[in-house]
Amino acid sequence: MYGYYGYPMYGYDWTYILVLIGAVISMLASYNVKATFEKFAKVQSFSGLTGAQAAQMILERNGINNVRIQGIAGSLTDNYVPSKKILNLSQSTINSTSIAAIGVAAHECGHAIQDAKGYQPLVLTRTISPMCAIASKISIPLIFFGLIVSMTPLIKIGIIAFAVAISVQLLTLPVEFDASKRAVQTLAEYGMVTDQELSGIKSVLSAAALTYVAAAASSILQLLRLLMIVRGRENRRR
Ligand SMILES: [Zn+2]
Repeated sequence: MYGYYGYPMYGYDWTYILVLIGAVISMLASYNVKATFEKFAKVQSFSGLTGAQAAQMILERNGINNVRIQGIAGSLTDNYVPSKKILNLSQSTINSTSIAAIGVAAHECGHAIQDAKGYQPLVLTRTISPMCAIASKISIPLIFFGLIVSMTPLIKIGIIAFAVAISVQLLTLPVEFDASKRAVQTLAEYGMVTDQELSGIKSVLSAAALTYVAAAASSILQLLRLLMIVRGRENRRR
């Protein structure tokens, strides 16, 4: 019998509940960020600045003039690409004058500021990302193959690869929280938004940060499950 990810299972595999918990946490976080964004997307900013204008102002005020702002398809797909110095703002952000749009644009500027200042966790994330991507590709096939041919060392290597793959998710957490902190600081410092608007922006950015926390938590739960499967196999052999 083969279960989730094709792991052979013997009888009822209760560790599967860890995967379900992770999925529920991620779903709730994703629902929460969409609902919070939609709520504040209806609140127009007092300044009338669009997401793109706010981003331009924040970059200028931080002495950054080598970053290009451009549009990207989709909603909540906003991102900053350090290697190309491009700040991608989504359709729901770039031309919107809502405080949700200003908040998201400011957050992405936070990443551009991190890049300009050589913020170490961001540099480290970029350095380990290619290795984590490879680890992510080989981990599940290794574990699966190890289970089929019943080679515990192979399964263990697969689990180590899985741990390496998810390390980037953990490192992303300080990077995301710091980007939001820088965004809020700049908006407040230059009086770009009112105090009331700032509290709405903080709600949007906190909801967004929670999705990263949920993703990391569900990956850790999966890792825990893999470790339990291996321990279960070793115990059965004794
Ligand atoms: Zn971010």
